[in-house]
Amino acid sequence: MAGILQAGRARWRALLTGGTGERGRRRLALALALALHAGPSLATAPGTAPAFPWPQGARAAVSLAYDDALDSQLDHAIPALDRHGFRGSFYLTLSNPSVARRMEDWRAAARRGHELGNHSLFHQCARSKPGRDWVEPQRDLDTTSVEQMRDQVLLANTMLAAIDGRRERTYTLPCGDTHAGGRDYLPAVRDAFVGIKVAGGSGVIDAMETLDPRAVPVAAPNGSSGAELIAIVKQAMRRGTMVNFTFHGIGGDYLSVSRQAHEELLRFLAENRGLVWTDSFVNIMKHVRQQQARKPAAP
Ligand SMILES: [Zn+2]
Repeated sequence: MAGILQAGRARWRALLTGGTGERGRRRLALALALALHAGPSLATAPGTAPAFPWPQGARAAVSLAYDDALDSQLDHAIPALDRHGFRGSFYLTLSNPSVARRMEDWRAAARRGHELGNHSLFHQCARSKPGRDWVEPQRDLDTTSVEQMRDQVLLANTMLAAIDGRRERTYTLPCGDTHAGGRDYLPAVRDAFVGIKVAGGSGVIDAMETLDPRAVPVAAPNGSSGAELIAIVKQAMRRGTMVNFTFHGIGGDYLSVSRQAHEELLRFLAENRGLVWTDSFVNIMKHVRQQQARKPAAP
């Protein structure tokens, strides 16, 4: 047991410092000094118990999510995830032609454990924001009411249940936009979801205890290298929290990340299964909510 712990610590140290030996030790000392000065959220580094209890003693959790129902996700991302035995979360825009054309492929992915998430029927975004000329006028969130959006988002849940037979669902806001017809529509839909992803930040959560599962920030990589993606995971490992990646195209389509960068990330996660819990967003959020609901033990 102690041997396993020692080996685990050595691995953790090597990961954080990029190596062992004298140089590694000096880097570790620096990392520790920084951690001690950076406050309690970073104080879960080597040798101490993680502040937030992840399954099987993992240091951090990773959600790999893919938005918009794109062919390159079916053709490249899902086969790669399957090879490594990981479950991803696929946020389907239900009006996207790929859903109708390749419904059996999406259904088969769900059968293998991948999550099909809600990304609304029509991907409404606010056309009034800069760079939003691509938003079709009939899909303008500025002219969609909260009530219309609520009806459509709830219908999307029914449609997803018809595809995969599941009842627990998570949501990712199209474009990260929260306001329909000038009013925040999240309060009208939040009770229908185990978790909701919103825009903003690096995707690394500061503290799990205070995270609102229905307002979880994501990183949306675009053209990132494998090393850059792995560096984000290491940040979450240092904090003992989680990171949320929201990809779009993988080796194709748009806002894409290359197949090679994606594969490098998956290989890192596979090599560090004991330290990083990679799972679907719905599974991670169920765990987070359970832990948050626990009352602190009496003294
Ligand atoms: Zn989207």
